[in-house]
Amino acid sequence: MKLTVVGCTGSMSGPKGAASCYIVSTDTTTILLDLGPGSMGQLMNHIDPGEIDAIVLSHLHTDHCADIIGMQVYRRWLPSGPLGPIPVYSPGDGLVRTRQIGGDPADETYSGEFDFRTVTAGDTIHIGDMSIEFFAAVHPVPALATRITGAAGGVLAYSGDTDYCEGQVAAARNADLYLCEAAFEATRDTVRDIHLTGGRAGRIAAEAGARNLVLTHLQPWTNPQTVSDEAREEYSGPVAVAIPGGTFHVTPAPTMES
Ligand SMILES: [Zn+2]
Ligand SMILES: [Zn+2]
Repeated sequence: MKLTVVGCTGSMSGPKGAASCYIVSTDTTTILLDLGPGSMGQLMNHIDPGEIDAIVLSHLHTDHCADIIGMQVYRRWLPSGPLGPIPVYSPGDGLVRTRQIGGDPADETYSGEFDFRTVTAGDTIHIGDMSIEFFAAVHPVPALATRITGAAGGVLAYSGDTDYCEGQVAAARNADLYLCEAAFEATRDTVRDIHLTGGRAGRIAAEAGARNLVLTHLQPWTNPQTVSDEAREEYSGPVAVAIPGGTFHVTPAPTMES
């Protein structure tokens, strides 16, 4: 299983790339985790958008789903013909949220492009040869962590947006790679129940026994060195900071390619 970082800037698009969006792929299956601002265009640098089997949205904050409308337009109006519907999984009502972003009327269902499905903590879904489990996160809106197991056995966990909680530890349990947000710096950001500091991300990775920690969703004003130093105080495994275009092989011994 392979993880490709399309965009990873927290809370907005950033000077170096798009907001949250990740490709997770096996030989036979390709999904997107989140589709934040700027990611639709960047996605085309990596794959044909028509190859996507499903979209999994961690939550419906705009920085994780705004480009769903770009994807909708692409799927409906591609000159070579419509691409047809794919499932879109999210906590909350993804259809209503998409209508809000698109400014579309209440009778617009996007049924030619998307099949919206609501998921909640405890659910397990299967997309191609991937199995995806959902776990509780702590955030101001319904939000989920995802744990993806590929047919070859690698396990990828993604925090979405969250503060420390048992759901995250469960999602990341013995994961080969834990892609975890670290938007907050400990000495600057004291508000709770919104985001993780590097230290709290490291604590979750340590408690879960995750094999590798990749920090993501750093806001333009968050220092990568600061949050990775914080994480290393809590977690003794390898710590990386996501960058746009970065790829990781999620196997029992993942290695970063670029
Ligand atoms: Zn966010
Ligand atoms: Zn959020």
